[in-house]
Amino acid sequence: MRQLIDGYRRFRGNHWPEYRDLYRELSRYGQKPPTLIIACSDSRVDPGSIFDAQPGEIFVVRNVANLVPPYEEGDGLHGTSAAIEFAVKVLNVDMILVLGHGDCGGVSAALKGDPLGDSEFLAKWIELINPARAKLAHLDPADPAAKEALECESIKLSIERLMTFPFVAAAVAAGGLVLEGARFRVFDGRLEWLDKTTGEFSRVE
Ligand SMILES: [Zn+2]
Repeated sequence: MRQLIDGYRRFRGNHWPEYRDLYRELSRYGQKPPTLIIACSDSRVDPGSIFDAQPGEIFVVRNVANLVPPYEEGDGLHGTSAAIEFAVKVLNVDMILVLGHGDCGGVSAALKGDPLGDSEFLAKWIELINPARAKLAHLDPADPAAKEALECESIKLSIERLMTFPFVAAAVAAGGLVLEGARFRVFDGRLEWLDKTTGEFSRVE
């Protein structure tokens, strides 16, 4: 708690004076971020820091391994799907970015086939990566290149799944929404962007 309170006091002392007017404006007129970012819960991969974003600039949903579940009707508490729906239907974002990252523990678990012990929720969630993993069955799971490949393949799978949401597909078809993928490398802070034509990720200079 002490760490959080100290951080809050630094925020009030250092950042609040600079952003006071912006926050007031955002409070008065509401948010209108142009981008939804779907990122991992990983503490090292904060979209606001990576993209040097101002308050109000990005709408973010974070979950384990930055996954998009398939569109599902019916009961169930679909937290990520609810955030996607709000971003597309209410905020009318013009871009959804699936932001993966290197050294992802969730992707690592999916690669090794590790059921994460006796987890109540995690193992089932990580199973969402399985179709991407099946595409890479020819790779040796112990090879670090296999993990990088799965991180990339999983981002592409999430983009495919976004298109299973009818309102996302409709917005894309109407030309009002684009879907993008990127991967942040924790070890050197480099960002790689997905070329949707080639399916390859290349470094942003
Ligand atoms: Zn992760």
